[in-house]
Amino acid sequence: MSLIYPLFIPMAGCAARCIYCDQSKLSGASALDLEQAAHDVAAFIRHHPEQDKQIAFYGGSFTRLSPQERNTMLERILPLLDEHSSFRISTHPLWIDQEILDWCGQNRIRTIELGIQDFNEAVLHRSGRGYGTAEAVGACKAVQEAGFELGIQLMPGLPGADLSSLEANLYYLRELKPRFLRLYPLIVIKGTPLEEEFRQGRYQPLSLDAAIQICADYCLLAESLRIRVIKLGIPSNIASEDILAGPYHPAFGEFVKAELLIRKLELDYQPDQPIFLNRSQSALLSGHSGRYRKILEDRLKNCTLEIKITDIADSKKNQEDKT
Ligand code: SF4
Repeated sequence: MSLIYPLFIPMAGCAARCIYCDQSKLSGASALDLEQAAHDVAAFIRHHPEQDKQIAFYGGSFTRLSPQERNTMLERILPLLDEHSSFRISTHPLWIDQEILDWCGQNRIRTIELGIQDFNEAVLHRSGRGYGTAEAVGACKAVQEAGFELGIQLMPGLPGADLSSLEANLYYLRELKPRFLRLYPLIVIKGTPLEEEFRQGRYQPLSLDAAIQICADYCLLAESLRIRVIKLGIPSNIASEDILAGPYHPAFGEFVKAELLIRKLELDYQPDQPIFLNRSQSALLSGHSGRYRKILEDRLKNCTLEIKITDIADSKKNQEDKT
């Protein structure tokens, strides 16, 4: 697994502002100061000489920047990289073609994350993303066929999303098997066009529980396909006063993990048998005032929760997590 050093280019290159987006509020970053970035990247590279590292350009549509803008950024950072370093970029699926993929291949870009958000035609149209299912799938395949690591970003809760669009997304993940997945349930950020839709009652965000359930569904599929889920929930850099509505919680990822644990415990449950939990499982269920312990007790009425601390199993699991 690579160490990532993120450089934020809020909405740089974006053809239009998507109705829900405010990258400056999400990342807490202003426009990229390239000299400062070069200084920080050099320190990052020096501090991790032997590890696999990536310098990531996040928060905009990197491949829609002009060639001059792209070259200026990479040419400043490139001489600082060691032999264990490469670039990672995040971009919009409409701005992927053979020419740009060739350029990426010539410039030490190893990983391309696509902000797909949803594969369903109706949801994409309703959300004004500017592309449809065919373009989204085509961009993913082009990235993979050109030999890059593909990361897909999905956004549960977009306008028009429902159970059938969730099924479509699960279908395309099975088809594409990206290297990794980021899940950002949609929240309503103040000052975005979505705020107006929400205030007029034309958009209703997911509840926190619904978003957790959907992300748990994605995680189960991802696990079965060996797709790594590297992000669950909106970045915590956003100030709470900028969030108007939606399934935001700083511990969102923990909640999804707890939901996954409960689903597993439910599957393994034997009536009249106690449930054994190791230390980390116990911590997941007892965190946040025992939120998930209560949910487990509610789902498995009359179960006896017996907490067994198994340090050996925990440390073995931790080792496995790091490999
Ligand atoms: S393309 Fe991505 S970064 Fe740009 S406005 Fe849309 S969601 Fe935001």
